Amino acid sequence: MFIGHYAVGLASKKLAPRASLGALIAAPILLDLLWPIFLLLGWEHVSVEPNSNPFLRLSFDSYPISHGLLAVAGWATLFAALYYGFTRYVPGTIVIWLGVISHWVMDYIVHRPDLPLYAGGSRMMGLGLWNHRWVAIAVEAALFAVGIWIYQRQTKAKDKVGTYAFWGFVVLLLAAYAGATFGPAPPASIKKLAIATLCAALLIPWAWWLDSHREAREVAP
Ligand SMILES: [Zn+2]
Repeated sequence: MFIGHYAVGLASKKLAPRASLGALIAAPILLDLLWPIFLLLGWEHVSVEPNSNPFLRLSFDSYPISHGLLAVAGWATLFAALYYGFTRYVPGTIVIWLGVISHWVMDYIVHRPDLPLYAGGSRMMGLGLWNHRWVAIAVEAALFAVGIWIYQRQTKAKDKVGTYAFWGFVVLLLAAYAGATFGPAPPASIKKLAIATLCAALLIPWAWWLDSHREAREVAP
């Protein structure tokens, strides 16, 4: 899944209003930032295959360290513990833990059965919504819209940056999603693919920045 992970980060602002959107976004996309690192290290493997369905062009041959459920629970706990260490903010800590776990759950819905439970396990999980291209797009777009709506309801811009940096963030994500969904095939070079995927990390400081230019909206009881 792509923008659906960002939807989780945006929506989680409601449950942890004092947490920065930077951290709230980092949690649900963490696994997809670890994955390219492990690809570059040669610890995990992917191959690019031609397919008329753009969602099925990547074959996730092996990724138990970034996407095995057991390892994911470990990453979630590690990230939540670090977050708690820095902030002592309990709602944020819980939401961050859930945010990392949510990545696996959402990938489980869309991926073909390729998600391991643990390294070395032979049982692969995945409901395969990606086989139904338009349904997958509709679900993901709807999730993203709900995420934007919740974040907008929770916060309001303090200044112009708070407005434009937020909508710029949304437009960029939609453009990246459209590129992945309707654009050319991903690079056949795994190194290029990994580096392009890692670029998503830049969205974390951006989310932190735009969020620092917004404040809590008084929601009527
Ligand atoms: Zn993933």
